[in-house]
Amino acid sequence: MSVLITDSCISCDACIDECPATAIVSSDGSPLNDDRVYVKPEKCIECVDAAVPKCADVCPSKGSIVWDMPYTAEYNGYFVNSDNYVIRIHKRRGLLSPANQERPFREDIDMRARIDHASIGETLRLYVAK
Ligand code: SF4
Ligand code: SF4
Repeated sequence: MSVLITDSCISCDACIDECPATAIVSSDGSPLNDDRVYVKPEKCIECVDAAVPKCADVCPSKGSIVWDMPYTAEYNGYFVNSDNYVIRIHKRRGLLSPANQERPFREDIDMRARIDHASIGETLRLYVAK
């Protein structure tokens, strides 16, 4: 990751089938004890090979998908200790933490936008184009 889905999500589930990394699960499949649609940071690749993140492109709820920190070893503690995530434990490879398994991220996204959890749609002007 990564990207994060916020409380403003209306649980339409439109983003789930769009994700090329099968990183998004409905609230029923979320490892958190809340009713939010959930993005698995250990799987999200920020759609680095696409023009924009597919989830944010299809989302009808402005600001529901926001930036989070890169899923790299530098931010291992952040992800492992965050209340927003439950990192999967693989049978053979153990905890799929950033230190154990880095994921691709968009290097052109300003770190300030990540720290502030800025809306992906607004950052990439997805709403202006529509
Ligand atoms: S940014 Fe791409 S890989 Fe990450 S959750 Fe959204 S659609 Fe999936
Ligand atoms: S597309 Fe947007 S509103 Fe719909 S489930 Fe995904 S994050 Fe929530």
